[in-house]
Amino acid sequence: MKLKTITPKLTASSQIAPADLDAIAARGFAAIIDNRPDGEAEGQPTAAELAAAAQQRGLAFHYLPLKPGQVTPEAAQSFGAIVTAAPGPVIAFCRSGSRSEALWTAYAADRQSAEAGMASEPRNEAGRSALARDTGPVQRRNGGRRERIVIVGGGSAGIAVAASLLRRRGDLDIAIVEPGEVHSYQPGWTLVGDGVFSRAQTQRPMASVMPKRVRWIKAAASGFAPERNEVILEDASRLEYRVLIAAPGIMLDWEAIPGLKETLGQNGVTSNYHADLAPCTWELVQGLNGGRALFTQPAMPIKCAGAPQKALYLSCDHWQRQDRLGGIEPEFYTPTPSLFGVAHYVPALMEYIHRYQVGLNLESRLVAVDGPAHIATFEAKGADGSTREIVKNFDMLHVCPPQRAPAFVVESALANAAGWVEVDPETLRHARFENVFALGDVASTSNAKTAAAARKQAPVVAENVLSFLAGRELRAIYDGYGSCPLTVERGKVVLAEFGYGGKLLPTFPQFLIDGSKPSRLAWFLKERMLPFIYWNGMLKGREWLAKPAHRAPARAPSALAPAGIG
Ligand code: FAD
Repeated sequence: MKLKTITPKLTASSQIAPADLDAIAARGFAAIIDNRPDGEAEGQPTAAELAAAAQQRGLAFHYLPLKPGQVTPEAAQSFGAIVTAAPGPVIAFCRSGSRSEALWTAYAADRQSAEAGMASEPRNEAGRSALARDTGPVQRRNGGRRERIVIVGGGSAGIAVAASLLRRRGDLDIAIVEPGEVHSYQPGWTLVGDGVFSRAQTQRPMASVMPKRVRWIKAAASGFAPERNEVILEDASRLEYRVLIAAPGIMLDWEAIPGLKETLGQNGVTSNYHADLAPCTWELVQGLNGGRALFTQPAMPIKCAGAPQKALYLSCDHWQRQDRLGGIEPEFYTPTPSLFGVAHYVPALMEYIHRYQVGLNLESRLVAVDGPAHIATFEAKGADGSTREIVKNFDMLHVCPPQRAPAFVVESALANAAGWVEVDPETLRHARFENVFALGDVASTSNAKTAAAARKQAPVVAENVLSFLAGRELRAIYDGYGSCPLTVERGKVVLAEFGYGGKLLPTFPQFLIDGSKPSRLAWFLKERMLPFIYWNGMLKGREWLAKPAHRAPARAPSALAPAGIG
Protein backbone atom coordinates (compact mmCIF):
# COMPACT_ATOMS: atom_id res chain seq x y z
CA MET A 1 0.00 0.00 0.00
CA LYS A 2 1.19 3.51 -0.86
CA LEU A 3 -0.42 5.92 1.61
CA LYS A 4 -0.86 9.67 1.28
CA THR A 5 -2.31 11.80 4.04
CA ILE A 6 -4.92 14.13 2.54
CA THR A 7 -6.42 15.60 5.74
CA PRO A 8 -6.02 14.58 9.38
CA LYS A 9 -9.11 12.42 8.86
CA LEU A 10 -8.53 11.12 5.33
CA THR A 11 -5.73 9.03 3.86
CA ALA A 12 -5.61 7.95 0.20
CA SER A 13 -4.07 4.62 -0.67
CA SER A 14 -3.17 2.48 -3.65
CA GLN A 15 -5.09 -0.81 -4.08
CA ILE A 16 -5.52 -2.70 -0.81
CA ALA A 17 -5.90 -6.44 -0.39
CA PRO A 18 -7.74 -8.44 2.32
CA ALA A 19 -4.30 -9.29 3.76
CA ASP A 20 -3.69 -5.56 4.42
CA LEU A 21 -6.72 -5.13 6.66
CA ASP A 22 -5.01 -6.17 9.89
CA ALA A 23 -2.41 -3.46 9.36
CA ILE A 24 -5.14 -0.95 8.48
CA ALA A 25 -7.08 -1.75 11.68
CA ALA A 26 -3.86 -1.60 13.72
CA ARG A 27 -3.20 1.94 12.41
CA GLY A 28 -6.56 2.99 13.84
CA PHE A 29 -8.59 3.45 10.65
CA ALA A 30 -12.32 3.06 11.26
CA ALA A 31 -13.66 3.08 7.71
CA ILE A 32 -12.61 2.07 4.21
CA ILE A 33 -13.86 3.61 0.95
CA ASP A 34 -13.32 1.53 -2.20
CA ASN A 35 -13.25 3.84 -5.27
CA ARG A 36 -12.04 1.22 -7.72
CA PRO A 37 -14.64 -0.50 -9.91
CA ASP A 38 -14.54 -4.30 -9.64
CA GLY A 39 -12.78 -6.11 -12.47
CA GLU A 40 -10.55 -3.21 -13.51
CA ALA A 41 -7.45 -5.41 -13.39
CA GLU A 42 -6.69 -9.07 -13.27
CA GLY A 43 -6.29 -10.45 -9.73
CA GLN A 44 -7.94 -7.39 -8.15
CA PRO A 45 -9.94 -8.33 -4.99
CA THR A 46 -13.65 -7.60 -5.36
CA ALA A 47 -15.52 -5.13 -3.19
CA ALA A 48 -17.52 -8.04 -1.73
CA GLU A 49 -14.33 -9.84 -0.63
CA LEU A 50 -12.96 -6.67 0.95
CA ALA A 51 -16.29 -5.84 2.61
CA ALA A 52 -16.40 -9.31 4.23
CA ALA A 53 -12.80 -9.00 5.45
CA ALA A 54 -13.51 -5.47 6.79
CA GLN A 55 -16.62 -6.63 8.61
CA GLN A 56 -14.64 -9.38 10.38
CA ARG A 57 -12.37 -6.68 11.80
CA GLY A 58 -15.16 -4.26 12.73
CA LEU A 59 -14.28 -1.74 10.00
CA ALA A 60 -16.97 0.14 8.08
CA PHE A 61 -16.77 -0.42 4.31
CA HIS A 62 -18.20 1.76 1.52
CA TYR A 63 -18.09 0.96 -2.20
CA LEU A 64 -18.12 4.13 -4.34
CA PRO A 65 -16.63 2.98 -7.67
CA LEU A 66 -15.33 5.54 -10.12
CA LYS A 67 -13.68 5.20 -13.54
CA PRO A 68 -10.44 7.18 -14.06
CA GLY A 69 -11.09 10.80 -14.91
CA GLN A 70 -14.78 10.74 -13.99
CA VAL A 71 -14.93 12.79 -10.84
CA THR A 72 -18.48 14.11 -11.13
CA PRO A 73 -19.82 16.67 -8.63
CA GLU A 74 -22.31 14.00 -7.45
CA ALA A 75 -19.57 11.44 -6.76
CA ALA A 76 -17.53 14.10 -4.95
CA GLN A 77 -20.53 15.02 -2.78
CA SER A 78 -21.17 11.34 -1.88
CA PHE A 79 -17.52 10.86 -1.08
CA GLY A 80 -17.39 13.97 1.09
CA ALA A 81 -20.55 12.91 2.91
CA ILE A 82 -19.09 9.47 3.75
CA VAL A 83 -15.82 10.95 4.99
CA THR A 84 -17.64 13.57 7.05
CA ALA A 85 -20.04 11.08 8.63
CA ALA A 86 -17.45 8.34 9.33
CA PRO A 87 -16.50 7.92 13.00
CA GLY A 88 -12.72 7.93 12.74
CA PRO A 89 -9.83 8.12 10.29
CA VAL A 90 -10.85 6.96 6.83
CA ILE A 91 -8.73 5.20 4.25
CA ALA A 92 -9.91 5.53 0.64
CA PHE A 93 -8.33 3.68 -2.23
CA CYS A 94 -8.36 3.07 -5.98
CA ARG A 95 -5.54 1.77 -8.24
CA SER A 96 -3.03 4.43 -7.21
CA GLY A 97 -5.02 6.53 -4.74
CA SER A 98 -5.38 9.43 -7.16
CA ARG A 99 -9.12 9.01 -7.81
CA SER A 100 -9.84 9.03 -4.06
CA GLU A 101 -7.68 12.11 -3.67
CA ALA A 102 -9.36 13.82 -6.62
CA LEU A 103 -12.79 13.14 -5.12
CA TRP A 104 -11.82 14.86 -1.89
CA THR A 105 -10.24 17.78 -3.77
CA ALA A 106 -13.41 18.30 -5.81
CA TYR A 107 -15.60 18.04 -2.70
CA ALA A 108 -13.43 20.46 -0.72
CA ALA A 109 -13.25 22.93 -3.62
CA ASP A 110 -17.02 22.94 -4.04
CA ARG A 111 -17.52 23.48 -0.31
CA GLN A 112 -14.98 26.29 -0.28
CA SER A 113 -16.61 28.12 -3.19
CA ALA A 114 -20.07 27.57 -1.76
CA GLU A 115 -18.83 29.12 1.48
CA ALA A 116 -17.30 32.03 -0.43
CA GLY A 117 -20.51 32.34 -2.48
CA MET A 118 -18.63 31.86 -5.79
CA ALA A 119 -18.85 29.53 -8.74
CA SER A 120 -16.21 26.87 -8.24
CA GLU A 121 -12.93 26.95 -10.11
CA PRO A 122 -11.17 23.63 -10.64
CA ARG A 123 -8.59 22.82 -7.98
CA ASN A 124 -5.72 20.45 -7.93
CA GLU A 125 -4.65 18.09 -5.18
CA ALA A 126 -2.96 20.79 -3.16
CA GLY A 127 -6.10 22.88 -3.21
CA ARG A 128 -4.51 25.43 -5.54
CA SER A 129 -6.21 26.48 -8.72
CA ALA A 130 -5.16 24.03 -11.42
CA LEU A 131 -4.06 27.03 -13.42
CA ALA A 132 -1.42 27.78 -10.81
CA ARG A 133 0.38 24.66 -12.00
CA ASP A 134 2.05 26.61 -14.79
CA THR A 135 4.15 29.63 -14.09
CA GLY A 136 3.67 31.40 -17.42
CA PRO A 137 1.13 34.11 -18.08
CA VAL A 138 -2.49 33.25 -18.78
CA GLN A 139 -3.72 35.27 -21.70
CA ARG A 140 -7.01 37.02 -21.51
CA ARG A 141 -8.65 38.25 -24.69
CA ASN A 142 -12.12 38.47 -26.11
CA GLY A 143 -13.53 40.27 -23.12
CA GLY A 144 -11.47 38.44 -20.54
CA ARG A 145 -11.90 34.85 -21.75
CA ARG A 146 -8.83 32.67 -21.46
CA GLU A 147 -7.24 31.52 -24.70
CA ARG A 148 -5.24 28.67 -23.33
CA ILE A 149 -4.91 25.91 -25.89
CA VAL A 150 -4.13 22.53 -24.38
CA ILE A 151 -2.78 19.82 -26.68
CA VAL A 152 -2.75 16.26 -25.33
CA GLY A 153 0.08 14.31 -26.94
CA GLY A 154 3.42 15.53 -28.26
CA GLY A 155 3.77 13.04 -31.12
CA SER A 156 3.70 13.79 -34.83
CA ALA A 157 0.25 15.38 -34.72
CA GLY A 158 0.56 17.26 -31.41
CA ILE A 159 3.88 18.95 -32.18
CA ALA A 160 2.86 19.73 -35.77
CA VAL A 161 -0.38 21.42 -34.76
CA ALA A 162 1.34 23.47 -32.04
CA ALA A 163 3.93 24.63 -34.57
CA SER A 164 1.24 25.46 -37.14
CA LEU A 165 -0.71 27.48 -34.56
CA LEU A 166 2.38 29.44 -33.52
CA ARG A 167 3.29 30.17 -37.15
CA ARG A 168 -0.09 31.83 -37.49
CA ARG A 169 -0.13 33.61 -34.13
CA GLY A 170 3.05 33.70 -32.11
CA ASP A 171 1.42 35.03 -28.93
CA LEU A 172 -0.82 32.04 -28.25
CA ASP A 173 -0.77 30.41 -24.83
CA ILE A 174 -0.24 26.73 -25.65
CA ALA A 175 0.48 23.84 -23.30
CA ILE A 176 1.36 20.34 -24.49
CA VAL A 177 0.68 17.45 -22.13
CA GLU A 178 3.20 14.74 -23.01
CA PRO A 179 4.86 12.25 -20.64
CA GLY A 180 7.56 10.93 -23.01
CA GLU A 181 11.18 12.12 -23.07
CA VAL A 182 11.78 10.92 -26.64
CA HIS A 183 10.02 11.85 -29.88
CA SER A 184 10.01 9.21 -32.63
CA TYR A 185 9.77 9.42 -36.40
CA GLN A 186 7.93 6.10 -36.57
CA PRO A 187 7.82 5.88 -40.40
CA GLY A 188 11.60 5.39 -40.16
CA TRP A 189 11.23 2.16 -38.18
CA THR A 190 10.46 0.21 -41.38
CA LEU A 191 13.90 1.20 -42.64
CA VAL A 192 15.51 0.38 -39.27
CA GLY A 193 14.06 -3.12 -39.75
CA ASP A 194 15.92 -3.26 -43.09
CA GLY A 195 19.22 -1.90 -41.83
CA VAL A 196 18.91 1.34 -43.85
CA PHE A 197 18.49 3.61 -40.80
CA SER A 198 19.82 3.23 -37.30
CA ARG A 199 17.30 3.54 -34.52
CA ALA A 200 19.04 6.77 -33.40
CA GLN A 201 18.22 8.38 -36.76
CA THR A 202 14.51 8.03 -35.99
CA GLN A 203 14.50 9.54 -32.50
CA ARG A 204 15.24 12.92 -30.91
CA PRO A 205 14.86 14.25 -27.36
CA MET A 206 11.30 15.50 -26.85
CA ALA A 207 12.71 18.78 -25.54
CA SER A 208 14.36 19.42 -28.92
CA VAL A 209 11.09 19.19 -30.88
CA MET A 210 8.88 21.15 -28.45
CA PRO A 211 8.21 24.56 -30.01
CA LYS A 212 9.96 27.20 -27.92
CA ARG A 213 6.88 29.16 -27.00
CA VAL A 214 4.95 26.10 -25.81
CA ARG A 215 4.71 25.03 -22.18
CA TRP A 216 5.51 21.34 -21.90
CA ILE A 217 3.62 19.65 -19.11
CA LYS A 218 5.54 16.43 -18.56
CA ALA A 219 2.66 14.23 -17.48
CA ALA A 220 0.13 11.81 -18.92
CA ALA A 221 -3.50 12.82 -19.25
CA SER A 222 -5.84 10.37 -17.54
CA GLY A 223 -9.21 11.79 -18.53
CA PHE A 224 -11.20 14.58 -20.11
CA ALA A 225 -13.98 16.63 -18.52
CA PRO A 226 -15.16 18.56 -21.60
CA GLU A 227 -18.28 19.88 -19.92
CA ARG A 228 -15.92 21.71 -17.50
CA ASN A 229 -13.23 22.45 -20.10
CA GLU A 230 -10.65 20.43 -18.20
CA VAL A 231 -8.05 17.79 -18.88
CA ILE A 232 -7.36 15.52 -15.91
CA LEU A 233 -3.75 14.56 -15.39
CA GLU A 234 -2.45 11.33 -13.92
CA ASP A 235 -1.79 12.97 -10.54
CA ALA A 236 -5.48 14.00 -10.45
CA SER A 237 -4.71 17.67 -11.02
CA ARG A 238 -6.76 19.47 -13.63
CA LEU A 239 -5.80 21.71 -16.46
CA GLU A 240 -8.33 24.22 -17.71
CA TYR A 241 -8.52 25.07 -21.40
CA ARG A 242 -10.30 27.37 -23.77
CA VAL A 243 -9.57 24.98 -26.64
CA LEU A 244 -8.57 21.33 -26.38
CA ILE A 245 -6.72 19.49 -29.13
CA ALA A 246 -6.58 15.73 -28.57
CA ALA A 247 -3.63 13.94 -30.19
CA PRO A 248 -2.52 11.05 -27.96
CA GLY A 249 -2.20 8.55 -30.84
CA ILE A 250 -3.22 4.91 -30.92
CA MET A 251 -2.56 2.13 -28.35
CA LEU A 252 -0.54 -0.92 -29.33
CA ASP A 253 -2.24 -3.86 -27.63
CA TRP A 254 0.59 -6.41 -27.40
CA GLU A 255 -1.32 -8.27 -24.70
CA ALA A 256 -4.28 -8.98 -26.96
CA ILE A 257 -2.35 -11.95 -28.39
CA PRO A 258 -1.63 -14.50 -25.66
CA GLY A 259 2.06 -15.35 -25.44
CA LEU A 260 3.24 -12.48 -27.64
CA LYS A 261 4.48 -9.93 -25.11
CA GLU A 262 6.71 -12.34 -23.21
CA THR A 263 8.49 -13.53 -26.34
CA LEU A 264 9.05 -10.22 -28.14
CA GLY A 265 12.70 -9.84 -29.08
CA GLN A 266 13.35 -13.55 -28.41
CA ASN A 267 12.71 -16.88 -30.10
CA GLY A 268 12.71 -15.28 -33.56
CA VAL A 269 9.79 -12.96 -32.72
CA THR A 270 10.03 -9.28 -33.62
CA SER A 271 8.07 -6.19 -34.70
CA ASN A 272 8.90 -2.94 -36.47
CA TYR A 273 6.12 -1.36 -34.40
CA HIS A 274 8.50 -0.74 -31.49
CA ALA A 275 11.73 1.25 -31.59
CA ASP A 276 13.51 -1.36 -29.43
CA LEU A 277 12.47 -4.20 -31.71
CA ALA A 278 12.99 -2.78 -35.21
CA PRO A 279 16.80 -3.37 -35.00
CA CYS A 280 15.99 -6.95 -33.94
CA THR A 281 14.04 -7.43 -37.22
CA TRP A 282 17.16 -6.58 -39.21
CA GLU A 283 19.28 -8.97 -37.10
CA LEU A 284 16.80 -11.79 -37.62
CA VAL A 285 16.54 -11.14 -41.36
CA GLN A 286 20.30 -11.20 -41.76
CA GLY A 287 20.62 -14.33 -39.65
CA LEU A 288 17.91 -16.42 -41.34
CA ASN A 289 19.31 -18.91 -43.82
CA GLY A 290 16.31 -21.18 -44.20
CA GLY A 291 12.96 -22.13 -42.67
CA ARG A 292 9.62 -20.44 -42.34
CA ALA A 293 9.15 -16.67 -41.88
CA LEU A 294 5.69 -15.44 -40.92
CA PHE A 295 4.48 -11.82 -41.19
CA THR A 296 1.18 -10.81 -39.63
CA GLN A 297 -1.27 -7.92 -39.77
CA PRO A 298 -4.14 -7.41 -37.27
CA ALA A 299 -7.67 -6.11 -37.81
CA MET A 300 -8.10 -2.51 -38.94
CA PRO A 301 -7.73 0.25 -37.98
CA ILE A 302 -3.98 0.27 -37.43
CA LYS A 303 -1.38 2.95 -37.96
CA CYS A 304 0.28 2.70 -41.35
CA ALA A 305 -1.71 -0.21 -42.74
CA GLY A 306 1.09 -0.93 -45.21
CA ALA A 307 3.85 -1.36 -42.61
CA PRO A 308 3.27 -5.11 -41.98
CA GLN A 309 3.71 -5.74 -45.72
CA LYS A 310 6.71 -3.44 -45.96
CA ALA A 311 8.56 -5.66 -43.48
CA LEU A 312 7.64 -8.71 -45.58
CA TYR A 313 8.85 -7.29 -48.91
CA LEU A 314 12.10 -5.83 -47.57
CA SER A 315 12.97 -9.09 -45.79
CA CYS A 316 12.24 -11.16 -48.91
CA ASP A 317 14.25 -8.74 -51.05
CA HIS A 318 17.25 -9.17 -48.76
CA TRP A 319 16.97 -12.98 -48.87
CA GLN A 320 16.63 -12.88 -52.66
CA ARG A 321 19.71 -10.68 -53.03
CA GLN A 322 21.60 -13.07 -50.75
CA ASP A 323 20.36 -16.03 -52.82
CA ARG A 324 18.65 -17.49 -49.78
CA LEU A 325 15.00 -16.98 -50.64
CA GLY A 326 14.72 -20.48 -52.21
CA GLY A 327 15.30 -22.04 -48.78
CA ILE A 328 12.89 -19.72 -46.96
CA GLU A 329 9.13 -20.03 -46.90
CA PRO A 330 7.63 -16.53 -46.40
CA GLU A 331 3.94 -16.24 -45.48
CA PHE A 332 1.70 -13.23 -44.91
CA TYR A 333 -1.45 -13.32 -42.75
CA THR A 334 -4.06 -10.57 -42.75
CA PRO A 335 -7.71 -10.51 -41.60
CA THR A 336 -8.58 -8.18 -44.50
CA PRO A 337 -10.28 -9.59 -47.62
CA SER A 338 -7.61 -8.11 -49.93
CA LEU A 339 -3.94 -7.26 -49.77
CA PHE A 340 -4.50 -3.47 -49.59
CA GLY A 341 -7.59 -1.36 -48.92
CA VAL A 342 -7.35 0.68 -52.16
CA ALA A 343 -7.66 -1.58 -55.22
CA HIS A 344 -5.52 0.69 -57.43
CA TYR A 345 -2.32 -0.43 -55.68
CA VAL A 346 -3.07 -4.14 -55.38
CA PRO A 347 -1.74 -5.35 -58.81
CA ALA A 348 1.72 -3.85 -58.19
CA LEU A 349 1.83 -5.43 -54.72
CA MET A 350 0.62 -8.81 -56.00
CA GLU A 351 3.53 -8.86 -58.45
CA TYR A 352 5.88 -8.82 -55.45
CA ILE A 353 3.85 -11.49 -53.64
CA HIS A 354 4.44 -13.69 -56.70
CA ARG A 355 8.05 -12.65 -57.21
CA TYR A 356 8.95 -13.58 -53.62
CA GLN A 357 6.62 -16.64 -53.68
CA VAL A 358 4.84 -15.49 -50.54
CA GLY A 359 2.05 -17.69 -49.14
CA LEU A 360 -0.77 -15.15 -48.93
CA ASN A 361 -3.41 -15.87 -46.28
CA LEU A 362 -6.30 -13.41 -46.41
CA GLU A 363 -9.01 -13.30 -43.72
CA SER A 364 -6.62 -14.90 -41.24
CA ARG A 365 -5.44 -13.42 -37.96
CA LEU A 366 -2.83 -14.29 -35.39
CA VAL A 367 -4.47 -15.42 -32.12
CA ALA A 368 -1.62 -16.92 -30.05
CA VAL A 369 2.15 -17.29 -29.97
CA ASP A 370 4.22 -19.90 -28.20
CA GLY A 371 7.68 -18.37 -28.46
CA PRO A 372 9.80 -21.15 -26.92
CA ALA A 373 8.05 -23.76 -29.10
CA HIS A 374 8.22 -21.46 -32.18
CA ILE A 375 4.52 -21.96 -32.88
CA ALA A 376 2.01 -19.35 -34.08
CA THR A 377 -1.73 -20.02 -34.09
CA PHE A 378 -4.09 -18.33 -36.54
CA GLU A 379 -7.83 -18.17 -36.96
CA ALA A 380 -8.86 -18.32 -40.63
CA LYS A 381 -12.28 -17.54 -42.05
CA GLY A 382 -13.67 -19.92 -44.67
CA ALA A 383 -15.80 -18.88 -47.66
CA ASP A 384 -18.93 -20.05 -45.77
CA GLY A 385 -18.09 -17.79 -42.79
CA SER A 386 -16.87 -20.69 -40.61
CA THR A 387 -13.53 -20.36 -38.82
CA ARG A 388 -10.72 -22.85 -38.54
CA GLU A 389 -7.48 -22.92 -36.60
CA ILE A 390 -4.13 -22.97 -38.37
CA VAL A 391 -1.03 -23.87 -36.37
CA LYS A 392 2.35 -23.02 -37.90
CA ASN A 393 5.93 -23.54 -36.86
CA PHE A 394 8.14 -20.56 -37.53
CA ASP A 395 11.80 -19.63 -37.60
CA MET A 396 11.00 -15.93 -37.74
CA LEU A 397 7.77 -14.14 -36.83
CA HIS A 398 7.18 -10.42 -37.54
CA VAL A 399 4.06 -9.22 -35.73
CA CYS A 400 2.08 -6.03 -36.16
CA PRO A 401 0.11 -5.85 -32.88
CA PRO A 402 -3.64 -5.23 -32.59
CA GLN A 403 -4.39 -1.55 -31.99
CA ARG A 404 -7.12 0.45 -30.30
CA ALA A 405 -7.95 3.88 -28.95
CA PRO A 406 -6.23 4.73 -25.62
CA ALA A 407 -8.37 3.62 -22.63
CA PHE A 408 -8.66 7.12 -21.15
CA VAL A 409 -10.11 8.32 -24.46
CA VAL A 410 -12.50 5.38 -24.79
CA GLU A 411 -13.86 6.10 -21.31
CA SER A 412 -14.33 9.82 -21.93
CA ALA A 413 -17.25 11.86 -23.25
CA LEU A 414 -15.16 12.65 -26.32
CA ALA A 415 -15.30 9.10 -27.69
CA ASN A 416 -17.59 7.67 -30.35
CA ALA A 417 -18.97 4.14 -30.01
CA ALA A 418 -15.67 2.67 -31.25
CA GLY A 419 -13.62 4.70 -28.77
CA TRP A 420 -12.05 7.30 -31.12
CA VAL A 421 -12.39 11.06 -30.56
CA GLU A 422 -15.48 11.86 -32.56
CA VAL A 423 -14.74 14.71 -34.95
CA ASP A 424 -16.22 16.11 -38.12
CA PRO A 425 -14.20 14.46 -40.94
CA GLU A 426 -13.57 17.79 -42.70
CA THR A 427 -13.13 20.44 -40.00
CA LEU A 428 -11.75 18.00 -37.38
CA ARG A 429 -13.86 19.72 -34.72
CA HIS A 430 -15.59 17.54 -32.16
CA ALA A 431 -19.12 16.46 -32.95
CA ARG A 432 -20.52 17.67 -29.62
CA PHE A 433 -18.00 20.03 -27.97
CA GLU A 434 -17.36 23.11 -30.10
CA ASN A 435 -14.02 23.96 -28.46
CA VAL A 436 -12.51 20.47 -28.87
CA PHE A 437 -10.54 19.28 -31.93
CA ALA A 438 -8.61 16.07 -32.63
CA LEU A 439 -6.09 14.91 -35.17
CA GLY A 440 -3.65 12.09 -35.76
CA ASP A 441 -4.27 8.43 -35.04
CA VAL A 442 -6.79 9.07 -32.25
CA ALA A 443 -9.31 10.88 -34.46
CA SER A 444 -12.46 9.08 -35.61
CA THR A 445 -11.81 10.00 -39.26
CA SER A 446 -11.64 7.15 -41.78
CA ASN A 447 -8.34 8.18 -43.40
CA ALA A 448 -5.22 6.00 -43.33
CA LYS A 449 -3.69 6.60 -39.89
CA THR A 450 -0.31 7.98 -40.93
CA ALA A 451 2.10 10.80 -40.16
CA ALA A 452 1.33 12.01 -43.68
CA ALA A 453 -2.29 12.42 -42.64
CA ALA A 454 -1.24 14.35 -39.51
CA ARG A 455 0.92 16.61 -41.73
CA LYS A 456 -2.20 17.60 -43.70
CA GLN A 457 -4.49 17.74 -40.67
CA ALA A 458 -2.31 20.04 -38.54
CA PRO A 459 -2.80 23.22 -40.65
CA VAL A 460 -6.54 22.49 -40.90
CA VAL A 461 -6.89 22.27 -37.12
CA ALA A 462 -4.65 25.31 -36.60
CA GLU A 463 -6.72 27.44 -38.93
CA ASN A 464 -10.04 26.23 -37.56
CA VAL A 465 -9.00 26.73 -33.94
CA LEU A 466 -8.11 30.35 -34.70
CA SER A 467 -11.39 30.83 -36.56
CA PHE A 468 -13.24 29.41 -33.57
CA LEU A 469 -11.44 31.77 -31.18
CA ALA A 470 -12.27 34.71 -33.42
CA GLY A 471 -15.92 33.66 -33.66
CA ARG A 472 -15.64 33.00 -37.39
CA GLU A 473 -16.97 30.13 -39.48
CA LEU A 474 -14.61 27.13 -39.73
CA ARG A 475 -13.54 26.96 -43.35
CA ALA A 476 -10.36 24.90 -43.53
CA ILE A 477 -11.12 21.33 -44.60
CA TYR A 478 -9.25 18.04 -44.62
CA ASP A 479 -9.82 15.72 -47.57
CA GLY A 480 -8.76 12.49 -45.84
CA TYR A 481 -5.28 12.48 -47.40
CA GLY A 482 -2.98 9.77 -46.13
CA SER A 483 0.06 8.23 -47.70
CA CYS A 484 1.72 4.86 -47.48
CA PRO A 485 5.08 4.40 -49.18
CA LEU A 486 5.12 0.61 -49.68
CA THR A 487 8.78 -0.40 -49.75
CA VAL A 488 8.52 -3.36 -52.13
CA GLU A 489 12.29 -3.79 -52.50
CA ARG A 490 15.41 -1.94 -51.33
CA GLY A 491 15.43 1.09 -53.64
CA LYS A 492 11.80 0.94 -54.86
CA VAL A 493 8.49 2.08 -53.41
CA VAL A 494 4.87 1.77 -54.51
CA LEU A 495 3.61 5.16 -53.33
CA ALA A 496 -0.02 4.93 -52.22
CA GLU A 497 -1.62 8.35 -51.68
CA PHE A 498 -5.36 8.53 -51.19
CA GLY A 499 -8.14 10.34 -49.35
CA TYR A 500 -11.63 9.62 -48.07
CA GLY A 501 -13.39 6.80 -49.89
CA GLY A 502 -10.11 5.62 -51.44
CA LYS A 503 -9.96 8.64 -53.80
CA LEU A 504 -6.50 8.80 -55.37
CA LEU A 505 -4.67 11.98 -54.32
CA PRO A 506 -1.21 11.84 -55.91
CA THR A 507 1.15 14.67 -54.96
CA PHE A 508 3.28 14.39 -58.08
CA PRO A 509 2.34 14.20 -61.77
CA GLN A 510 2.17 10.64 -63.10
CA PHE A 511 5.29 11.04 -65.27
CA LEU A 512 7.33 11.64 -62.10
CA ILE A 513 5.74 9.06 -59.80
CA ASP A 514 3.08 6.64 -60.99
CA GLY A 515 1.56 5.25 -57.79
CA SER A 516 0.50 2.04 -59.52
CA LYS A 517 4.14 1.09 -60.22
CA PRO A 518 7.27 0.63 -58.10
CA SER A 519 9.37 3.78 -58.32
CA ARG A 520 12.98 4.67 -57.50
CA LEU A 521 12.10 8.33 -57.05
CA ALA A 522 9.47 7.35 -54.48
CA TRP A 523 12.18 5.42 -52.56
CA PHE A 524 14.35 8.55 -52.61
CA LEU A 525 11.35 10.44 -51.23
CA LYS A 526 10.87 7.86 -48.45
CA GLU A 527 14.54 7.58 -47.48
CA ARG A 528 15.76 11.15 -47.93
CA MET A 529 12.99 13.69 -48.46
CA LEU A 530 10.24 12.67 -46.05
CA PRO A 531 12.42 12.48 -42.89
CA PHE A 532 13.77 15.95 -43.79
CA ILE A 533 10.28 17.31 -44.39
CA TYR A 534 9.16 15.79 -41.07
CA TRP A 535 11.86 17.22 -38.79
CA ASN A 536 12.38 20.54 -40.58
CA GLY A 537 8.96 21.26 -42.05
CA MET A 538 6.07 19.54 -40.32
CA LEU A 539 7.38 19.86 -36.75
CA LYS A 540 8.34 23.51 -37.35
CA GLY A 541 5.03 24.69 -38.78
CA ARG A 542 6.41 24.97 -42.33
CA GLU A 543 3.49 23.54 -44.22
CA TRP A 544 5.29 22.11 -47.25
CA LEU A 545 2.84 20.13 -49.40
CA ALA A 546 0.20 20.67 -46.72
CA LYS A 547 -1.70 23.89 -47.39
CA PRO A 548 -5.33 23.36 -46.36
CA ALA A 549 -8.26 23.58 -48.76
CA HIS A 550 -11.20 25.83 -47.86
CA ARG A 551 -14.94 25.67 -47.96
CA ALA A 552 -16.67 28.49 -49.78
CA PRO A 553 -17.93 30.99 -47.18
CA ALA A 554 -21.56 30.52 -46.20
CA ARG A 555 -23.52 33.22 -48.03
CA ALA A 556 -25.27 35.70 -45.76
CA PRO A 557 -29.01 35.63 -46.52
CA SER A 558 -29.97 38.50 -48.76
CA ALA A 559 -32.06 41.12 -47.02
CA LEU A 560 -34.32 41.22 -50.08
CA ALA A 561 -34.84 37.48 -50.47
CA PRO A 562 -38.26 36.36 -49.33
CA ALA A 563 -38.12 34.07 -46.27
CA GLY A 564 -37.90 30.37 -47.13
CA ILE A 565 -36.45 30.89 -50.63
CA GLY A 566 -32.83 30.35 -51.69
P1 FAD B 1 2.06 9.48 -32.16
O1 FAD B 1 3.07 10.05 -33.08
O2 FAD B 1 2.15 8.03 -31.82
O3 FAD B 1 2.10 10.36 -30.84
C1 FAD B 1 1.22 10.18 -29.76
C2 FAD B 1 1.85 10.92 -28.57
O4 FAD B 1 0.89 10.97 -27.52
C3 FAD B 1 3.08 10.21 -28.02
O5 FAD B 1 4.15 11.12 -27.91
C4 FAD B 1 2.63 9.69 -26.67
O6 FAD B 1 3.67 9.67 -25.71
C5 FAD B 1 1.55 10.70 -26.30
N1 FAD B 1 0.58 10.17 -25.35
C6 FAD B 1 0.07 8.92 -25.29
N2 FAD B 1 -0.75 8.80 -24.24
C7 FAD B 1 -0.80 10.02 -23.66
C8 FAD B 1 -1.48 10.53 -22.52
N3 FAD B 1 -2.26 9.76 -21.78
N4 FAD B 1 -1.29 11.82 -22.19
C9 FAD B 1 -0.48 12.62 -22.93
N5 FAD B 1 0.21 12.18 -24.01
C10 FAD B 1 0.04 10.90 -24.36
N6 FAD B 1 3.14 7.12 -41.30
C11 FAD B 1 3.42 7.63 -42.52
O7 FAD B 1 2.95 8.71 -42.86
N7 FAD B 1 4.22 6.97 -43.40
C12 FAD B 1 4.81 5.81 -43.09
O8 FAD B 1 5.55 5.25 -43.89
C13 FAD B 1 4.56 5.24 -41.80
N8 FAD B 1 5.14 4.09 -41.44
C14 FAD B 1 4.99 3.62 -40.17
C15 FAD B 1 5.66 2.49 -39.80
C16 FAD B 1 5.57 2.00 -38.52
C17 FAD B 1 6.30 0.76 -38.13
C18 FAD B 1 4.78 2.70 -37.56
C19 FAD B 1 4.71 2.20 -36.14
C20 FAD B 1 4.09 3.83 -37.93
C21 FAD B 1 4.17 4.30 -39.23
N9 FAD B 1 3.47 5.42 -39.65
C22 FAD B 1 3.70 5.95 -40.91
C23 FAD B 1 2.38 5.98 -38.81
C24 FAD B 1 2.74 7.26 -38.08
O9 FAD B 1 3.93 7.11 -37.36
C25 FAD B 1 1.60 7.62 -37.13
O10 FAD B 1 0.39 7.62 -37.87
C26 FAD B 1 1.81 9.00 -36.53
O11 FAD B 1 2.93 8.97 -35.70
C27 FAD B 1 0.56 9.45 -35.77
O12 FAD B 1 0.80 10.62 -35.05
P2 FAD B 1 0.09 10.88 -33.64
O13 FAD B 1 0.64 12.16 -33.14
O14 FAD B 1 -1.37 10.70 -33.78
O15 FAD B 1 0.60 9.68 -32.73
